[in-house]
Amino acid sequence: MTPKFIFTTGGVLSSLGKGLASASIGALLEARGLTVILQKLDPYVNVDPGTMNPFQHGEVYVTDDGAETDLDMGHYERFTHAKISKKCNHTTGSIYFSVISKERRGDYLGGTVQIIPHVTDEIKRVIQSVVNGSDLAIVEIGGTVGDIESLPFLEAIRQFRNDVGKENCLYIHLTLVPYIKSAGELKTKPTQHSVSELRRVGIQPDILLCRTERPLDRHLKEKIALFCNVEPEAVITAVDVESIYEVPLKFHEQGLDEQICRKLNIWTRAPQLTDWEDLVYKIKNPAHEVTIAMVGKYVDLRESYKSLNEALSHGGVANTTKVNIKFVDSEEVERQDAGIIGPVDGILVPGGFGSRGVEGKIKAVRLAREQQIPYFGICFGLHMAVIEFARNVLGWPEAHSSEIDPNSPYPVIYLMREWFDFRTQRIERRDELTDKGGTMRLGAYPCKLIEGTLAHKAYKTEEISERHRHRYEFNNEYKQALADEGLVVSGTSPDGQLAEIVELRGHPWFLGCQFHPEFKSRPMDPHPLFREFIRAALRYKNSKQA
Ligand code: GLN
Repeated sequence: MTPKFIFTTGGVLSSLGKGLASASIGALLEARGLTVILQKLDPYVNVDPGTMNPFQHGEVYVTDDGAETDLDMGHYERFTHAKISKKCNHTTGSIYFSVISKERRGDYLGGTVQIIPHVTDEIKRVIQSVVNGSDLAIVEIGGTVGDIESLPFLEAIRQFRNDVGKENCLYIHLTLVPYIKSAGELKTKPTQHSVSELRRVGIQPDILLCRTERPLDRHLKEKIALFCNVEPEAVITAVDVESIYEVPLKFHEQGLDEQICRKLNIWTRAPQLTDWEDLVYKIKNPAHEVTIAMVGKYVDLRESYKSLNEALSHGGVANTTKVNIKFVDSEEVERQDAGIIGPVDGILVPGGFGSRGVEGKIKAVRLAREQQIPYFGICFGLHMAVIEFARNVLGWPEAHSSEIDPNSPYPVIYLMREWFDFRTQRIERRDELTDKGGTMRLGAYPCKLIEGTLAHKAYKTEEISERHRHRYEFNNEYKQALADEGLVVSGTSPDGQLAEIVELRGHPWFLGCQFHPEFKSRPMDPHPLFREFIRAALRYKNSKQA
């Protein structure tokens, strides 16, 4: 079939959940047997979010092909089978970057380069290039309608409908219908304004998703339909839900997928949603409960650990267990002591950069190791585990990562000078002088597991592929000394050069991995390491009570 395009825009304010809505639309269309791909066009000027502070932007999501992308890519991958790649996330910065590179190369043959048509053409080119054999592309426009930065994107998608034809292009607009307590009423005015803003740039939305605390009644839907020039059935309530995985089902109940297929003239089977129903049932009816301490830096911002929170909850689903996450500020642990972590059933130290709170994270590892509390260290969390062990078991108090202490006499974590890189298929070299952005090990790498280890038992296979985002590595010079005392390497790169997983012998469950497994966990297919970590936490909890 000719590829179809759905554009999702947002109005009134940000954080209404446009990414989730787009991902849920993808899930519904997949359930009808269509193949989908998703893309996000972000209006900010950074070329990618790799260098952005997670405080401002939330998590940086890493794809198999090593792109550092917006966290909405995580929703897309968790809700659909779309293979998200570099092509799926563009920004004003990346669009201008390629326009300017083309201009410098002389591709425009001396013409004057302008926003219309050159920038808009480039935007339309990246939209067309993402479809690549899928039936449908869902393209989310970041930001809110009315922002200066989103104008070229809106102009490009306006033109798009004329290029591909009406029946191949659909506009869905997400807005807010706030409930005003003092008036005891839901207010439609912000929606009317944001739709008229969209119409000013030439886009008439086909479907409205109205985010609201309370369902919209017939009368209100009709009012919105009238003022916004859409059919009443095309006004869909996006009511607040307990679990994000309910969103596709809620949309389906109101006929959203039906509307989309009708408007785009697509014939499909009825959607098969039993997987989603089962999932939501499991989430809402857990048999057990555990509490996991997450000891990190951006503790007050859940958005910075989005995929990790999701992966933990998937691990819970696999064990019919509700996972409560207790965010613990590592700087607080550093100032006080590990006691403030309190009674928990598992400790997790997530990825991180820089020295803030490092001593607190090391204290948390020590607590887990000594008290036999299940421990899961991810990337920086693996570094912390190795440092803690070198200091407190091997008796090298000055052991450190050269990221934090370049002069440590025991650099157990360091910048590896040279290795064969299985992703780029060439010898990579690093030193302190190589520049910041370009030097990380990024994207999917193969890893070989050693039989009989926790890792091997979890994955039940010999070779795995996981995503990385880091510079520093385990220092093989200390491998033997650490192993002699019980901290062993259980997964390596295929040539054995890079240590990818370490674990502690004689501890019920203590594992650190150099990669970010959270990026590959799916609600219907929980990641093996998260599944086993939660299982261990449950076992630990039961043993305490026994
Ligand atoms: N800061 C560490 C490094 O660059 C770990 C990074 C991470 O946890 N993602 O190697």
